[in-house]
Amino acid sequence: MSASTPEPVTLARHAMATRFEIVLHGANPVSLRAAGEEALDEVDRIEALLSLYRPTSEIANVNARAAREAVRVSPEVFRLLERARELSAATGGAFDITVAPLVRCWGFMGGTGRMPEAVEIEAARARIGMRLVELNARDFTVRFAREGVMLDLGAIGKGYAIERAVELLHDAGVTSALLHGGTSTIHALGRLPDDAPWKIALEHPPRSTEDQPELLALVPLENEAMSVSAVWGRHFQSDGRHYGHVIDPRTGFPTEAAQMTAVVLGSATETDALSTALLTQGVDGIEPLHQLRSSARSLVIASGSWVPTISARGIEVIA
Ligand code: AMP
Ligand code: MG
Repeated sequence: MSASTPEPVTLARHAMATRFEIVLHGANPVSLRAAGEEALDEVDRIEALLSLYRPTSEIANVNARAAREAVRVSPEVFRLLERARELSAATGGAFDITVAPLVRCWGFMGGTGRMPEAVEIEAARARIGMRLVELNARDFTVRFAREGVMLDLGAIGKGYAIERAVELLHDAGVTSALLHGGTSTIHALGRLPDDAPWKIALEHPPRSTEDQPELLALVPLENEAMSVSAVWGRHFQSDGRHYGHVIDPRTGFPTEAAQMTAVVLGSATETDALSTALLTQGVDGIEPLHQLRSSARSLVIASGSWVPTISARGIEVIA
């Protein structure tokens, strides 16, 4: 780094059960640090709104009461629920925040997974679908059509928090920064000080726990977000098969359509939701994704064979 380029300011914080990190470039380290802290405070604020595991969150309140009465939420949470509903419709239900009863039944709600009985899966499936969630825009209320419906924003919340945090960085005049939450969603604001785009390394899925990860792609990002969804994020093995924490709401089973997916777009909320959707759809989801968002870039590593097939659009895979 040349003498004229000051060292970047880096900040980190534990939130949403992961580590968020920000790297900021600019002339004034004091104001960069202040902007970074404010952005991380925003992540904390959003976790307090959305977390399933905090009884005081708006989502926990909805889950506890909305089967019995219409529950009022803040305009912000209401708008996010509307976006989640739109993304669910746009992905044919592959992304669905009502998946919670299945996530719980497969032991992934705070746990590392377990094999449920068939009757448990059927009972959970009867409680799934955005049609069971009534969003009333006149008074910002949420109402469930039956008992047992539950919302889980685990596939979109981190992306939303990053999107909001990036807005704050932008409003504070930051022109070059990188923000990620547990590496699964990352947003690059502006360019690097040498005017090159940020470059994000994507690694191959690990073949075994001992293997060194191999580089899969170096993805240039500029005012864009990338999210990665993967089966191995949280999973368990039974009879030689891997069961991961992303469940196909349409079948009730952990997805086997893909091992890993990545989506690049301007909005971190969308990349988060759409990379999860793509993991449940596999290669069949690629065409619909690019129809939905023509500026998207995507990568899918399909499951099902010893030699994984990689389908990439707009992302250059390293041979
Ligand atoms: P991500 O790491 O963004 O792909 O999100 C995975 C998390 O979202 C899981 O741990 C579940 O909490 C939740 N989830 C699982 N399957 C789905 C699905 N099909 N649609 C929406 N959320 C899901
Ligand atoms: Mg996601």
